[in-house]
Formats: sequence, C-alpha cells, structure tokens
Amino acid sequence: MLPSLFVSHGAPTLPLEAAPARHFLEGLGASIEIKYGRPRAIVVASAHWETATPMVNLVETNPTIYDFHGFPAALYEMKYPAPGSAAVAGRVKSLLDAAGFACGTDTRRGLDHGAWVPLKLMYPSADIPVIQLSIQSHQGPDYHFRLGQALAPLRAEGVLVMGSGSFTHDLSEFRNYRNTLNAAEPEWVAGFANWFSKALDEGRLEDLLAYRSRAPYGVKNHPTDEHLLPIYVAMGAAGAEPVAHHLHESVSHVILRMDVWGFDSKAEENSLAA
Ligand code: ZN
Repeated sequence: MLPSLFVSHGAPTLPLEAAPARHFLEGLGASIEIKYGRPRAIVVASAHWETATPMVNLVETNPTIYDFHGFPAALYEMKYPAPGSAAVAGRVKSLLDAAGFACGTDTRRGLDHGAWVPLKLMYPSADIPVIQLSIQSHQGPDYHFRLGQALAPLRAEGVLVMGSGSFTHDLSEFRNYRNTLNAAEPEWVAGFANWFSKALDEGRLEDLLAYRSRAPYGVKNHPTDEHLLPIYVAMGAAGAEPVAHHLHESVSHVILRMDVWGFDSKAEENSLAA
C-alpha cells in the first residue's frame, strides 16, 4: 500500500538549484517504486489552487501552468505534460461527494508549479497520470484533514496521494533571501519546524490541528495557511491512526523549510521507516 506524501515545493527555481531538497526529490520517486511499486496515478493537492469548494481537474494531457513572475527563462521552458485520468478524477470526485464535500470538475485546469515542480523531479518522464485537487484555504486544518481521510482508499488502489506546500512559508521575508540558497535558518523558522515535527512524530493531532494558537511562530511562518494545509490532506489520507515519517529535512533561501513527510497507518507493516 502506497504511503501518502507531503512535499515542500519551495521557490519555483527548485529544479535549477543545487539544493539538498532537489536532490532528495530526484531520488524519491525511485525509492517509492522500490518499496511500493509504481503509482497507477498521482493525486496532488497543491497550495496554488484555491477554490471555494473542492475541484478536481479532468483533462487528457495536463497543461503546465507558469504561475510565477520574474524567474529565469529556463523555468518557463520546462514542461510537465503528464496525462490526466478520467477514471481517477471520477474516483476522487465520488469519494469526496460520498464524504459530503461536493466536489466539482474543471476540464481546463493543468498543473501549477506546486504540482509540476516536485513531480518533474520525482517522476521526470511525466508518464504517470496526474490529477490535481484544489484546496479551500478559508477552511483550515481540520477540514483538510477530513478531506484527506475521504481519499484514504486511494492508497490501496495504487494511487499516490500527495500534498504540496511548504513546511514554513513567510513570503514577506523571501525577498531578503531570494539569492541566498544554503544558509542556516533563524530561530523563528527552526522553532516552528521543531515543534511541528515533534507533534507529527508523537501523533499529537489535536495540537497539529490547532497549530495557529499552539505552535511557536505558527502565524509568523504561515501568515495565511494555504502552504501548510496540504500536509493535513496527506496526513488524513493515511487513514486511521496516521503515522508520520520525516523523510527529508532542509532549508532553502533561509526561511523556507523544505521538509518532506510520508504518512501511513499504524496497522501497516510496510512502514516507511523500515
Ligand atoms: Zn508555493
């Protein structure tokens, strides 16, 4: 059974940077394949597609969306033309509908950089069907955890459920560090990441869901929480009694933690940690 994943996608320039997170993601697709086999499809909940109610995209081939400005030309030449899948989009919609989420379908939407940047590193041949799922940033952590729970059956069906965001994400600070790649993070970044990691390791769901009032520097790292919400989708998709596995930890541009987490359920023997 496939784990669910949370990946930090960082700045759009990640595919061009000599960053530890880039190298980790470049090996992640293969390491998942060795342990669990190749996913039949990938469902990505990205921080960069925000809608009022959940939407899945239903396209033959995913257009690559360049939803960023002022970055190197090489980025705008990259493509990730992964096929879509009507069957998997339909399955996502029916699982969400059954759980009371009333999921809509978008027949034009492609993959934003929250989806295609990490996928291009993980699965460069772009031959696995990808379905993108929107988030509802006004709804908060608990809602996204339940949204993920509705998708848990997909893991047993060979579908990789992935949330893509950023473990820390105060973009008001980003401009100061745009050209600084590998340097130590300040205490307000580390303090939050350490608290959140420990809560994940210890399975303290109530604390995680209330991170905005309980985590040190929670609101500072996530002035708006759309970049953290995908981790709740991934955690929910693990099913009953989610177990978190800290697969990668690094920092990029001083303030962006690039951590990657895998989730499976307590009942499973093929733990990511094994
Ligand atoms: Zn982003």
